[in-house]
Amino acid sequence: MREGAKKRELVIGHLYPDLLNLYGDRGNIACLMKRCQWRGIQAKTVEFESEDRVDFGSLDIVLLGGGSDREQMLVCEKLKKIRQDFKDYVEDGGVVLAVCGGYQLLGKYYQTREGTIEGLHLVDLYTEQGERRLIDNIVLQSPLCKMPVVGFENHGGRTYINGNKPFGKVLYGSGNDGSSGYEGVIYKNVIGTYLHGPLLPKNPQICDHLLQKALERKYHSAELTPLDDKQEQEANAYMVKRLIK
Ligand code: GLN
Repeated sequence: MREGAKKRELVIGHLYPDLLNLYGDRGNIACLMKRCQWRGIQAKTVEFESEDRVDFGSLDIVLLGGGSDREQMLVCEKLKKIRQDFKDYVEDGGVVLAVCGGYQLLGKYYQTREGTIEGLHLVDLYTEQGERRLIDNIVLQSPLCKMPVVGFENHGGRTYINGNKPFGKVLYGSGNDGSSGYEGVIYKNVIGTYLHGPLLPKNPQICDHLLQKALERKYHSAELTPLDDKQEQEANAYMVKRLIK
């Protein structure tokens, strides 16, 4: 599929894959790239390792992946250096997908038994370590798409999103804190979620939502050629049926 005369290009920034990259979070990047390419939209990914300078002005989508508590502790020092630029990007409508450890880092802090990990203070939320890990498949109903969102969660942290909008209502699984009935957060064009990669390949409508937001911000128009997602829809329906009786 080729686009018309007007060439569009999106630049995806993958933050610290050397430290934050659990359960194939990279699959989310592959999905963003592929769904652009299938539509003739140019897509490029820039990986930033923890010592690199991040030029947020050149980015259209930022991915912050998951990590163990130890890796989060290491990364939190680096984040202090980029906090202001990252905040400006978010407030300007920059698109962000932050998964699990990355989601926790969007907030004020993540309090663990080993100490407190300071976050980026980009979204008004905080996380505290709970007694047991919340591990299972998960199904949500999100205001961002018609299909239920399916995924997998594995976290010790319980996240409290204060007055923010959740990413979805939990239909199966634990979600943010195991009791609120909600999962993740939506703030401006930021999605924070415990759903690990491959979140986007499993939920192509969420992928297209991110692409649309990025195109709107860059080109003030977000037309996306529809793609044939029959297989993804069948896989989604299978999981929903398996988990929700
Ligand atoms: N270390 C965090 C927790 O256990 C996040 C883990 C993850 O990214 N899977 O809550």
